[in-house]
Amino acid sequence: METHRHTEATCPRCLSALYYGTKAEPSCWKVYYLCSNCDWEVMAGRIGRADISHQDELWERAESLGERWVNND
Ligand SMILES: [Zn+2]
Repeated sequence: METHRHTEATCPRCLSALYYGTKAEPSCWKVYYLCSNCDWEVMAGRIGRADISHQDELWERAESLGERWVNND
């Protein structure tokens, strides 16, 4: 899974930086968030393939799903 580092979101368990990645499903992309330090990992949401026309859009949408883990101290 290709992952990108989120610039602001931090792990709710250890406050380390988070990475996010996408997995292709037949009708959508599943977005995963994972910690760079501990084993915390969640499936943050799904993005419909019809909603995405460029790969860049997919990564922007995936990044926005991580806003719930910004300033989570
Ligand atoms: Zn962590």
